[in-house]
Amino acid sequence: MSTKTPITVARGDGIGPEIMDATLKILDAAGAQLDIEEIEIGEAVYKSGVANGIADSSWDSLNRTKIFLKAPITTPQGGGFKSLNVTIRKQCSLFANVRPCVAYAPYVETHHPEMDLVIVRENEEDLYGGIEYRQSQDVTAALKIITRPGCERIVRYAFEYTRANGRKKLTCMTKDNIMKITDGLFHNIFDEIGAEYKDIEQEHMIVDIGTAKVAAHPEMFDVIVTLNLYGDIISDVAAEVTGSVGLGGSSNIGSDFAMFEAVHGSAPDIAGQGIANPSGLVLGAIQMLVHIGQGDVGAKVHNAWLKTIEDGIHTGDIYRSKEDGGVSKEKVGTADFSAAVIERLGQTPSTLKTVDYSSAPPGGIKLPELKSQPERTKVRVGVDIGINWGGTADELAGLMSDCLLPEHNLKLQMISNRGTKVWPDGKPGTFCADNWRLRFMAENDKEEVKTSQVLALMNNMNEAGFNFTKSVMLHNFDGEPGFTVAQGE
Ligand code: NAD
Repeated sequence: MSTKTPITVARGDGIGPEIMDATLKILDAAGAQLDIEEIEIGEAVYKSGVANGIADSSWDSLNRTKIFLKAPITTPQGGGFKSLNVTIRKQCSLFANVRPCVAYAPYVETHHPEMDLVIVRENEEDLYGGIEYRQSQDVTAALKIITRPGCERIVRYAFEYTRANGRKKLTCMTKDNIMKITDGLFHNIFDEIGAEYKDIEQEHMIVDIGTAKVAAHPEMFDVIVTLNLYGDIISDVAAEVTGSVGLGGSSNIGSDFAMFEAVHGSAPDIAGQGIANPSGLVLGAIQMLVHIGQGDVGAKVHNAWLKTIEDGIHTGDIYRSKEDGGVSKEKVGTADFSAAVIERLGQTPSTLKTVDYSSAPPGGIKLPELKSQPERTKVRVGVDIGINWGGTADELAGLMSDCLLPEHNLKLQMISNRGTKVWPDGKPGTFCADNWRLRFMAENDKEEVKTSQVLALMNNMNEAGFNFTKSVMLHNFDGEPGFTVAQGE
């Protein structure tokens, strides 16, 4: 019986085929047990009329192997083409993006030689749902979606990753001082799940100061877990700080599917010249080996790669001669670099830290079932109604008295504009755009607000000529409000 792990490989565009060739040669020489199926993705597929760059037939392979080692592709500009990465991420529910950011000083120039951190970024939720609206002439809005299962999966993955990789500390970054419900949920779940991982040091930072610390003192961090948008930004900041953006590998992990790649793109400017650095893809492939339970081979490749870098055998992008203050010894092309790594298989670095993946669980990190939650009592207590309006808040409030009837069991509690309370007792200096939010709460708070009462109110507002932009029901959960108050309320 074959013990080889089936994987799907795509050679991509630009430098993709060159760096994939170099990577596969190293994996083969290291004894990786892989059963490789190849598919075509990228520019040629886009140009054949497939809008997302991957043909339906290629999904057969991906659905079979569920492990994808992908070289970078060129996304054609304009013409309604869709990002292949986003398509795969969404269709395969790849909820975690994992990006190690490591400094290789003095071999690669950096101001932060001690930097060795990993960013675990939530990959599916947040503002990346792409749910945006133009609500009026002047006002646009985007919806930030954060779910309990989404937070639980990424946070637990981050804790398991920290433990499996022998790391010691997990830092959670959110902006829950401002976004108390969405980012607050992420932070709460971090604390809740963290209680099960007493062996791991835990801390929470507000993302703005956290990002500043990553830029100035990256050595403070070990593993960082954060929401999608913050993770997107922090991982680029961190990659830049390592001094070697081109050396980054990344993985996108789902419950039963994972994709591994280099962080960089297809570099069309140097394609076909045999000078590209294959390191980003090699480091992505090492993450794949660890994920599929071949951590021993992953460590062998990683240590040989570190030794090659340490021996000063560098591709042009990181080569710095002695005269330039560097420590590079030999400038090599893609194929010679991979040959140098192969030559060093079985060796470990002398000054850079030797890598050991023996604590990684065989077969990759498996997450338990999501926690079951007690059903909370959900009671409708009001409604926010958005309207276009060209007058003042006081005028608007005055007109509502004609629309509200006692049987609606609703009273106008406040009006806000751009999230700031402007009625009652608005401040004259508050700038107002042309979209207003009216908050109606139950007049008799012992009684749940009925949908029919909200509809009756909206019907009266409609007859009075108001122009709706949005409405959102307000609920309490076990008596706790499931909505925030307006700024200044
Ligand atoms: P890029 O990362 O391809 O290149 C930026 C610069 O870095 C270029 O000067 C390039 O020569 C250099 N570079 C990149 N990788 C290198 C390597 N391995 N060795 C040596 N030098 C390297 O970014 P770009 O030029 O903005 O994008 C080019 C194409 O790649 C675009 O079509 C973009 O859409 C695509 N892209 C794809 C992915 C992906 O498939 N995951 C990611 C990013 C960009």
